[in-house]
Amino acid sequence: MTTTSDKSMVQTSTYLCIGCPLGCRLEVDEDVGTHTLVEVRGFSCKRGKEYAAQEHVAPQRTVTTTVAIAGAAWVRLPVKSSKPIAKSRVQEVCRALRAVHVCAPIHLGDVIVVDVMSTGADIVATCDMPVLGSTGGDAKCNAS
Ligand code: SF4
Repeated sequence: MTTTSDKSMVQTSTYLCIGCPLGCRLEVDEDVGTHTLVEVRGFSCKRGKEYAAQEHVAPQRTVTTTVAIAGAAWVRLPVKSSKPIAKSRVQEVCRALRAVHVCAPIHLGDVIVVDVMSTGADIVATCDMPVLGSTGGDAKCNAS
């Protein structure tokens, strides 16, 4: 039970759950004195409750971007992180991926970068990228 004086120590933050298209509006109460979560409201499932607490304490994001590829029909290969990483490190990881160049063929799920920037997440290909003009065989590549 929360008293009136205790209530003045509680700060409410709101988040939009991205767990599904329902988009529940989540509220997180934090005791500003002890920095502990008091209550999470607005969720329609357990996933939303967990998301709200995670988003409030240590937000994470899955990185989705592209890296340069040579020898394929396209010049950029779509990639993503194998798991969410700290939101605060997303830009740093994206900057590092600008220097990555790979060669066709690449297959869906291929690991492009292991443990990117020591985040614990790998960067993996999200589609097949065969050699230009072939059905997926190896070819010479000058990417560095
Ligand atoms: S709380 Fe559950 S039902 Fe609501 S948006 Fe999140 S995942 Fe969907």
